[in-house]
Amino acid sequence: MKEFETIAAYFRPLTESRAEALSLLDDAAVFCIPKDHELVVTTDMLVAGVHFAADFQPQHIAHKSLRVNLSDLAAMGARPLSYQLAISYPEKPSHEWLAAFTSALAEDQKTFGIFCSGGDTTRTSGPLTISITAMGLVPHGKAVKRSGGKAGDILVLTGPVGDACLGLNGHKGAHFESALHKPLPRLDVAECLRTHAHAAIDVSDGLIADTAHLARASGCAAEIRVTPAFFSAPALALIQSGAVRDEDLLTGGDDYQIVVAAEESALAFFPGAIVIGRLTTGTPGQMTVYGLKGEILNPPSYGWTHF
Ligand code: ADP
Ligand code: MG
Repeated sequence: MKEFETIAAYFRPLTESRAEALSLLDDAAVFCIPKDHELVVTTDMLVAGVHFAADFQPQHIAHKSLRVNLSDLAAMGARPLSYQLAISYPEKPSHEWLAAFTSALAEDQKTFGIFCSGGDTTRTSGPLTISITAMGLVPHGKAVKRSGGKAGDILVLTGPVGDACLGLNGHKGAHFESALHKPLPRLDVAECLRTHAHAAIDVSDGLIADTAHLARASGCAAEIRVTPAFFSAPALALIQSGAVRDEDLLTGGDDYQIVVAAEESALAFFPGAIVIGRLTTGTPGQMTVYGLKGEILNPPSYGWTHF
């Protein structure tokens, strides 16, 4: 199958016949932005051997590459619109690979309300690389930024952290593996963020690292007090058995929960959320973290960095 046949057979169905995509027959997609809205645009790239193991299933790669982008849209308070899909293959992909990859994308499109508006396909002398650019909409002026936090705000986390890094580190069990392969972007809180959050960030690098990013952007220091609520029951069991330390799970990353800075009174609007600490006055970005036993944690690194 030639490149254009592949696009027609596997990628055109992902446009869901939306007019903006021009059936993937033109040089670009064309969008009309609804009145009183702004376009939110984000890109995340996944590289085999860096972001996922070479033996990852195509459906896992598909879910992960789309969902990490949806997580960014969620953290901005945006509603998903469409995404652009760029793929570099080290070798011609098989029918099986393409079918599994695109059906996982189609499944997520339904779940999260987004369609594919185009992309690019190349060969690479390096590893398989998937880059997705997702677009979303927010009412004018309502995008939730990292920089809006104020000293005294509570910091709230939308769900437990650490499960994905346990999966990555070989801890067995469907719970850890699905956290790693199929993270759930928190689009369910996007609207609530627009209404009640001063600032938000999604947790991709690690809870401490990303909270520090939010705090720095907001010109604040931050304090985190770890409680058992930070972790899922299976993760907590591993901490209690001594197999892992709490700080490993706070710096592991790939969680795709959202950290929110808001007034204390906003807590009621985030059901199931975990209060993790506060923004404080102090050196911007400076973190004080108390572990499960109340001890000060000073991990050598706050989270994942590439270099
Ligand atoms: P150009 O050479 O003008 O960049 P391409 O040949 O790369 O055009 O792409 C042709 C059409 O196919 C475009 O509409 C593009 O958006 C779409 N396309 C190419 N690769 C992909 C892909 N991996 N996923 C979705 N659409 C794609
Ligand atoms: Mg192209």
